[in-house]
Amino acid sequence: MNLWISEAQTKDLELRARVKETLFMGKSDFQEIAVVDSHQFGRMLVLDGVFQTSVTDEFIYHEMIVHVPLYTHPSPKKVLVIGGGDGGTIREVVKHECVEKAEMVEIDGLVVDVCKKFLPEISEAMIHNHPKLELKIGDGISHMKQAENKYDIIIVDCSDPIGPGKGLFTPAFYTNVYKALKDDGLFVQQTESPFYHQELITYVNKEIRQLFPITKMYLANIPTYPSGLHCFTMGSKKYDPIQSSVENQQGLTTRYYNKDIHRSSFVLPNFVQELLK
Ligand code: SAM
Repeated sequence: MNLWISEAQTKDLELRARVKETLFMGKSDFQEIAVVDSHQFGRMLVLDGVFQTSVTDEFIYHEMIVHVPLYTHPSPKKVLVIGGGDGGTIREVVKHECVEKAEMVEIDGLVVDVCKKFLPEISEAMIHNHPKLELKIGDGISHMKQAENKYDIIIVDCSDPIGPGKGLFTPAFYTNVYKALKDDGLFVQQTESPFYHQELITYVNKEIRQLFPITKMYLANIPTYPSGLHCFTMGSKKYDPIQSSVENQQGLTTRYYNKDIHRSSFVLPNFVQELLK
């Protein structure tokens, strides 16, 4: 059988993976959900035709969206994850001993259920109801309107700025994120590819800079994401991720993140620096 799944990464470019087996296909109130087992990347979650994560390269994204902010803050106790329905981000958050409570607000309960069934190594913290985890199925945008001075760290592990994720890239949302953070809090959002999403990156940086005294972007190489080069944008009220002492690492076992990667991921090629001017 010669079955392929493809993602249109731009209107002129597709990434195709040869599929061994389709494990799930369905539609929730919010999006089309598929899990396929691919030859190259193993099991993959696909939402509205966009590759979200794969069991082969998920560690890069999840370690980088979590350990960079959590090791920038000297003692994060209360962490909020918005989105992240596959559970990989929350799995990494609860590994930090200093974290007392890890809240997660995901809009789509079916994504959570499907990932628990087909991607258990990613969603293990949700499967085992980790004692630090408080999982809420709901809209992250509304959740942010209610919170004030509450979190040390907010991680926006969202899908692309289309569909239910669109409102997670607006000035109103960022203002609520700022308010929901404590006086020394910080936040990180996945902000797509510096090759293909340049306008988005420039826009997000401009918005974050208007709110947060410290705004930084960092990079990671993630094979299943468009162009392979992915970026994250951080807004921080107090702690600088480059100057912060990452020596306070608690010896977590990681496959991508380490203290040198922490610093070097903020070193940006000139064409990326240009986007932030
Ligand atoms: N790592 C992924 C990436 O960059 O492609 C993102 C993974 S995660 C699966 C994205 C999640 O964000 C999806 O499960 C989606 O349902 C959720 N999401 C989208 N909009 C949301 C909203 N407004 N509130 C909460 N969760 C949302």
